[in-house]
Amino acid sequence: MSDFLRTRAGKQFLCLLVLGLALWLLGIELQFQQNLLGFLEAYRSYGAEAVVLALNIGGAMSFLYSIFRIYDLRKEMDLRAKAQARADWTATHDHLTKLPNRYAFERRLFGRRQMRSSDDDGEPEDQTVTVFSVDLDGFKKVNDLVGHKGGDALLIEVARRLSALGDVGCVYRFGGDEFIVVATGLTREREEKFARMIIHALTRPIHIGSLPAEVGASIGYATTTMADANLEEAAHCADLAMYEAKSQGPNRYFAYEEAMQNKVTERAALESKLRAAIQENEIRPFYQPLINLRSGDICGFEALARWTDNDGISIPPPAFIGIAEETGMITELFENLLKQACLDARHWPDHITLSFNVSPVQMEDKLLATRILRILAKGQLPPHRLEIEITENALIQEPEIAALILDELHGAGVQIALDDFGTGYSSLAQLARYRFDKIKIDKSFVATYGSEERQEKIVRAMLGLGRSLGIKTTAEGIEEHSQLVYLVNHGCDIGQGYLFGKAVPADQAIAFIASRESDLPSLNQA
Ligand code: C2E
Ligand code: MG
Ligand code: MG
Repeated sequence: MSDFLRTRAGKQFLCLLVLGLALWLLGIELQFQQNLLGFLEAYRSYGAEAVVLALNIGGAMSFLYSIFRIYDLRKEMDLRAKAQARADWTATHDHLTKLPNRYAFERRLFGRRQMRSSDDDGEPEDQTVTVFSVDLDGFKKVNDLVGHKGGDALLIEVARRLSALGDVGCVYRFGGDEFIVVATGLTREREEKFARMIIHALTRPIHIGSLPAEVGASIGYATTTMADANLEEAAHCADLAMYEAKSQGPNRYFAYEEAMQNKVTERAALESKLRAAIQENEIRPFYQPLINLRSGDICGFEALARWTDNDGISIPPPAFIGIAEETGMITELFENLLKQACLDARHWPDHITLSFNVSPVQMEDKLLATRILRILAKGQLPPHRLEIEITENALIQEPEIAALILDELHGAGVQIALDDFGTGYSSLAQLARYRFDKIKIDKSFVATYGSEERQEKIVRAMLGLGRSLGIKTTAEGIEEHSQLVYLVNHGCDIGQGYLFGKAVPADQAIAFIASRESDLPSLNQA
């Protein structure tokens, strides 16, 4: 009722009630009854009674009519309130898991008072509030495996398991496979324990139909206090910690530290510098020689990206290739470098090949082979002079697409080398599955072989493996003469390393070819 009285209709009703009361009092004061009787008596012959009766009936009917209208109005208001509540729920909840969403979090539906409601009333202001940012590991793979419906079922189960843990907190789904858990009153040790509990809960197999699916969880968390209760800031910090955890591998957890924010700021600055550098073509290919260990001849150059920024500081590839991959700039960078490398390689003798690195993310691009072949055609470099280097990890994400790309490139005459052999996932499985022209033994094996007998045996086994599969072997990172002697004696085909030369600009590469031709004896001595 009080709701109704607060509406415009309710207020009008109240006004009329007051006005009616005032008129009634006035009527009593002015002896309205006697006057009315006198009036009826005087005009009886004109039908005054019938008029008054009609007016009375009209009044009563109007009264009833307004009662019905008020009833309808109330019903309408109830419906509207329910629709509003539904719209509110829809806007603030995730339909799939029924958890509150990011908008709910931002609107502070889980406000300070609500946080306290699960605790004792007299909680101190400095009580901690910890925001856990949870991101599933390997969700995409499961989604691909069990389909979107299966993926949805998995997310619902994840939401259920998180909610079951959260009697001291509150669980949100921020979209995709990202969840937020808010917990209060945890000590440092209990925060850690809680993160471990989340990982434990989520890594247990989840049955989707008859299929047991497994995912992991990367967790970052940040703490604020009840007095501060800046949940948005805490969630941002928790996200940064979660990215750090994710970068270290699956099922890791990290508490937020200030250094993480600095890292993100530096990275953002590097990212915008990189964008400009790619657009201005400031990143150039340098060429590191590949030596045929049987003849001592130079048989190829590996193109390696080199970037010297405007301050004259040279930024190493591991610092920027990853950013280019994550931001999608790698395609443009790759194409710029390959175009330039094709032009440079045309000045080399025909037997000298160009080796070019392809990032794992590029192996998810169905158009990669077409792009490469188009650049070769434009740069007039015959496909057989190009060798593509891919790492084992490049074949893991999208194996079917990777196989198509490799087949298309092979078909066109491009050679394929397996780079950093022995450092990625399931090296031998990759060898069995794809047809490679070359294996590049990672420099970590060559660097330590002298000091560790086991490494020496592994290098020998890799060389034997290449021989028995009829695949050529390249040893990376040859720095010492003794390493060269060992590799030559064990039948390694090609060598690369500082012993022969570092990556140099195009003009120096041409000079290197000329000098190398008059410098064969060093190998023959080996
Ligand atoms: P990678 O393809 O395995 O290249 C060989 C790396 O080993 C190069 O490092 C090279 O400078 C280094 N290296 C060669 N010989 C020696 C040696 O004797 N001793 C030592 N300690 N190192 C040696 P760089 O140029 O820093 O490149 C690192 C990685 O960055 C490359 O490894 C490759 O994965 C990636 N990369 C470089 N340029 C490109 C590029 O243009 N595109 C893509 N996608 N990746 C690139
Ligand atoms: Mg390489
Ligand atoms: Mg390598």
